[in-house]
Amino acid sequence: MIIRDRYAPSPTGLQHIGGIRTALFNYLFARSGEGRFILRLEDTDRARYDEAFVKNLYDTFAWLGIHWDEGPDTGGPAGPYVQSERFGLYKKYALELVEKGRGYYCFCSAERLDRVRAEREAAHSSNAGYDRHCRDIPPAEAAKRAQTGDPCTIRLKIPLGETTKVRDQILGDMEWKNDDVSPDPVLLKSDGFPTYHLANVVDDHLMEITHVLRAQEWLSSTPMHIILYNSFGWEPPAFCHLPMVMGQDGKKLSKRHGATSIDEFRRQGYLPEALLNYVALLGASYEEGREIYTLEELVERFSLDKLNKAPAIFDYKKLEWYNGQYMRMKSDVELAALTLPYSITAGLFGNGIDPTEPTAEQRNTFTAAMPLIKERLVFLHEAPEKLGYLFSEPAIPPAEEFFPKKSDLERTITLLKLGRKLVKPMAESNDEDAEAVAKAASEKAEIKLGDLLMPLRVAITGARVSPPLFGSLRILGAEKSLARVDKALAALGAADSSI
Ligand code: GLU
Ligand code: ZN
Repeated sequence: MIIRDRYAPSPTGLQHIGGIRTALFNYLFARSGEGRFILRLEDTDRARYDEAFVKNLYDTFAWLGIHWDEGPDTGGPAGPYVQSERFGLYKKYALELVEKGRGYYCFCSAERLDRVRAEREAAHSSNAGYDRHCRDIPPAEAAKRAQTGDPCTIRLKIPLGETTKVRDQILGDMEWKNDDVSPDPVLLKSDGFPTYHLANVVDDHLMEITHVLRAQEWLSSTPMHIILYNSFGWEPPAFCHLPMVMGQDGKKLSKRHGATSIDEFRRQGYLPEALLNYVALLGASYEEGREIYTLEELVERFSLDKLNKAPAIFDYKKLEWYNGQYMRMKSDVELAALTLPYSITAGLFGNGIDPTEPTAEQRNTFTAAMPLIKERLVFLHEAPEKLGYLFSEPAIPPAEEFFPKKSDLERTITLLKLGRKLVKPMAESNDEDAEAVAKAASEKAEIKLGDLLMPLRVAITGARVSPPLFGSLRILGAEKSLARVDKALAALGAADSSI
């Protein structure tokens, strides 16, 4: 069998973790079996529809690098792939059910339905909702009323007194009493538009979907969907309800826990690879103890039996860890390209003639500085705050900031003067040689290496904690570095810079 599966979002909100997890699993499953992954827009809810959400969907998946084989933009043999472009089609299927005696017209007014629902809820009826009032209107009479323009909907006639079985690929066999399934849900609204249930089932059938991998919140609709398939005489697809995604507190992941929309993660400086890798492990396990996978490696390993029943816990710290890991895998040029926009926005390159465009020299410095921060970066936006001292002279901090532990001003000045002598040889060496220079000097003067370098670090970077000193000296160059040391010495009140 050739797998055909789909991601069928309703464009009523931004793409979020749960949605892209569903899409990713469908993508991996189709790819793992050389099947077809389809995008279908379920835009039957016109009240909550917004074009901005459709745009967000395309932007998100383009950014993630997930592509579908068939969809509204790519086309395909089963199109159109947008339900609002298929509205003409659903009515025919609803009428077919009426014809077969598996559906019926309902003429109840909205007021009546509201009243019935309220009454049933108040009575704590286990089957709140419609009271099947129109189910027994003789079909000929109902058809006549419908034809003469009596406002009506079409409902599914749930066969009562029977049971419906579902074999879920993850959750196993399940059984529902039909009497407990949503009482005769509306399939076609009075304006002729389909409800979600009708459109979803008709389209899965017409698009020859073989597997429905979807969020577990849809599980309760599944018996009704199966009844719909049976009513049409169609074979239902295999169902696979994905484990829930929870926050650390065991409640369904929501904004209370932190960012959930992909836009937000993107703005915060997450890399798409990190997000995809982490999301692929939400509710699935591949190889014991292994955490990093490329998309291709996931495709090679994915199968439905890798999915867990138990809910997945979304761990923001773990996602941060993934982000750091993927930062480290970038080349300097790649990382510079990724962090540059954040650095421009943060004003790292000053407000020159054209503040949006760093000079060629600034760009080179920026790229050269990547090795200094790569190991320390968790988010892309952290680059400018870490590298500020390379692009503008840092403010000179109070004298005590320069002091190594247990040192006073006098000793600090002596140490900085000693450090000054090493600036040129260190700035002109690689890390290893620079370290050798510093070590030799500290041994000779019988000073701890850390003590020797602390005042120098503060003079060069403006802070006690900073990116690596040797690399910083190299990037700034001897001349600029010496100027900073001299300025610091003056601020500390040293008479001159010589020992
Ligand atoms: N449109 C539904 C959603 O927004 C699709 C459910 C399904 O995959 O069947 O999740
Ligand atoms: Zn009715």
